[in-house]
Amino acid sequence: MSRTAQEAPRVTPEVMARYEAVIGLEVHSQLQTLTKTFCGCSTKFGAAPNSNTCPVCLGLPGALPVPNAKALELAQRASLAIHCTIQGRSRFARKNYFYPDLPKGYQISMYELPLSTGGWVEIEVEGEKKRIGITRLHMEDDAGKSLHEGFPDSDRWSYIDFNRCGVPLIEIVSEPDLRTPAEAYAYLTKLKQILEYTEVSDCNMEEGSLRCDANVSVRLRGAAKFGTKAEVKNLNSFRYLSHALEYEIERQIGVLESGGTITQETRLWSVAAGRTEPMRSKEFAHDYRYFPDPDLLPVSVSQARIEEVRRSMPELPDAKLARFLSEYGITTYDAGVLTATRSLADYFEATVRAGAPAKGAANWISVELLRRLNDAGRDIANCPLAPGALAELLRKIEKGEITAASGKKVFAQMFETGKSAAAIIASEGLAQITDTSAIERIAREIVAKNPDNVAKYRGGNEGVFKFFVGQVMRETRGQANPQIVNEVVKRILTE
Ligand code: ADP
Ligand code: ZN
Ligand code: MG
Repeated sequence: MSRTAQEAPRVTPEVMARYEAVIGLEVHSQLQTLTKTFCGCSTKFGAAPNSNTCPVCLGLPGALPVPNAKALELAQRASLAIHCTIQGRSRFARKNYFYPDLPKGYQISMYELPLSTGGWVEIEVEGEKKRIGITRLHMEDDAGKSLHEGFPDSDRWSYIDFNRCGVPLIEIVSEPDLRTPAEAYAYLTKLKQILEYTEVSDCNMEEGSLRCDANVSVRLRGAAKFGTKAEVKNLNSFRYLSHALEYEIERQIGVLESGGTITQETRLWSVAAGRTEPMRSKEFAHDYRYFPDPDLLPVSVSQARIEEVRRSMPELPDAKLARFLSEYGITTYDAGVLTATRSLADYFEATVRAGAPAKGAANWISVELLRRLNDAGRDIANCPLAPGALAELLRKIEKGEITAASGKKVFAQMFETGKSAAAIIASEGLAQITDTSAIERIAREIVAKNPDNVAKYRGGNEGVFKFFVGQVMRETRGQANPQIVNEVVKRILTE
């Protein structure tokens, strides 16, 4: 099969609909440890090039690795969070290949005995829940980074930064259970959420803490067997994952429709070209010559230790969502928004604990607060409004001290100035008018000025009632309690 024939002729939606995609993801995530997998070097991102290195992570002869207990614990926590069974015995192997930023000449990774196996993650797409199987989770160490400068000019240099060498990763391999780019997106979103909740990884995609390779094949709908897959490497954003999958599915269908066959190969998503491009075919696939690392003992984990890790687990996203529904009686939509991150969920609960009504808090946080944070380019972690301050405002609205409309103005000022709700209400004169006699005085003036409308009302035109209420609200700049205004106007007009 020639290379050009592997490129995608455009396929019509009718033809696309006859096929089904099959997708399995391999997700790499950097563990949130202070030090590397097998040495004491810092894992801090952005340090001066090659400053976080030592004989172990530089692969110098004779240097001996010492496993990082925290990395193992985080990998175990991730395993339990995705319902994998932690194996009593797992083993690090050497995966041999040459690469300039891999000074050892091999990556240390678990191969035939992975840390854990057989789990699942639940996703929801268009209201349908589905469990995606997890084949395995294993630990490995990362390679360094190469930086190329001056290309394509004559003054070309390549630099190598070994800081990332030996940084701990987990790889999570899914079963080929995903059927659409939307499902793959939902799966990666859920995995990211779980890894963040459990503090296994910060999942910072710009810094490469979460990366994904996608395996894709297509088959005619109803076919029993999977098609030949291609693997698309290095998808380091959700957008690239979606685009790459959409492109690759259409390309493969195009190849099959034009009478070709799919080559099992590794491809790369080219951001610039907006397409996947061949990188290497399976014929030239590496033989990594895996063998057990002789410098490292097998990893043994007791049942007691697994139970200890299980007990230290925080509440997971699905459990938190279910609890928010039953405990606070808020909508599924709000519960989904509020539990998207642990810090937002914590903020909501702190607001309720500080005395805010739960439904009001859910609503204000998921609409007003998130919009303002988004506009300000801020994160809930550095929200200028403390949960207690928001709770104070929501209590005032609930008690009718200010109207909901004024509440929005107060909220905006609290967000901008950091002042308390009480201070802003006082200085802006926004307190709701609940003084019946004050409202009555205004209403009587308006009635006196509009004898025509009074006559109309008394003659049976109920519609003009709204006119009087509107005039009183206008006179009080919207601060009169609407219920009292209604009562007072009705009383005066029917005197
Ligand atoms: P390989 O031997 O090429 O590494 P594996 O069977 O180990 O392949 O699977 C690697 C990944 O590819 C897994 O995530 C798996 O779910 C996925 N996968 C396997 N077969 C297919 C297929 N036919 N189509 C799409 N994905 C697949
Ligand atoms: Zn080191
Ligand atoms: Mg494999």
